[in-house]
Amino acid sequence: MSSSTPGTPEPGTSPGTPEPGTGAGSRSRSRRTPKAESRLAMVRRARRINRELAEIYPYAHPELDFRNPFELLVATVLSAQTTDLRVNQTTPALFAAYPTPEDMAAAVPEEMEEIIRPTGFFRAKTKSLLGLSAALRDEFGGEVPGRLDDLVKLPGVGRKTANVVLGNAFGVPGITVDTHFGRLVRRWKWTEEEDPVKVEAVVADIFPRSEWTMLSHRVVFHGRRICHARKPACGACPIAPLCPSYGEGETDPEKARKLLKYEMGGQPGQRLSPPPDYPGRPAPALGAA
Ligand code: SF4
Repeated sequence: MSSSTPGTPEPGTSPGTPEPGTGAGSRSRSRRTPKAESRLAMVRRARRINRELAEIYPYAHPELDFRNPFELLVATVLSAQTTDLRVNQTTPALFAAYPTPEDMAAAVPEEMEEIIRPTGFFRAKTKSLLGLSAALRDEFGGEVPGRLDDLVKLPGVGRKTANVVLGNAFGVPGITVDTHFGRLVRRWKWTEEEDPVKVEAVVADIFPRSEWTMLSHRVVFHGRRICHARKPACGACPIAPLCPSYGEGETDPEKARKLLKYEMGGQPGQRLSPPPDYPGRPAPALGAA
């Protein structure tokens, strides 16, 4: 399934990982990483997983709807503690009411709270958005800055949010370590680190910068569709031959297939306006079926 990806030269010698190709559910695949896998072998396996994911999800993309850096920044702040779907169902009304940082900074807090209520923690999020848009208006001429150092100084904006905005609105390579990304890279034994900043540093060392943004999308796509937190669908997972955690979830192919989500499971996606190459159905608007 894999082919070489430009910009990801293979390091040195033998892969140290058994070849894929055993049938789904085969017992021979469980615990398939050698006990003492060398760093070189792990890097080769990690890059191979990235190439496989690129073939499985050629349409991987950020799952927040946005039309400009300001909308992406706001949507990412709103996405804390909720799903991208819920954010996407909420932002059309929010951006209709406050299309620019100037408009948002002048909002009546109670009115904004009502609009973003479906995303949860709406009082704290309203406070962040008011502070954020006032800072954009007063310190950055109403524009979202394209530098990490500036972005993380904005109210409610951490490193993760800043990387999402840099990677997807400014084309600056960034690794976004969210709950899915952290879980999957630990299952794949790329690292045992729990701290997102340390995970980011480890992964940045494995891949060239040119891969960082798309790798982040692919890993999150896989975590949302197949490698779920509680019930990973191992029996329907195309990268099972490369995964040392195969068997942590359902290995029966038929039962595993029923666990697949979004376009993989024939369900709508998270975006109301997905990119044209997305093979699934768009998400419904708020209140629709
Ligand atoms: S679904 Fe199972 S086999 Fe696939 S990546 Fe996750 S843990 Fe590994």
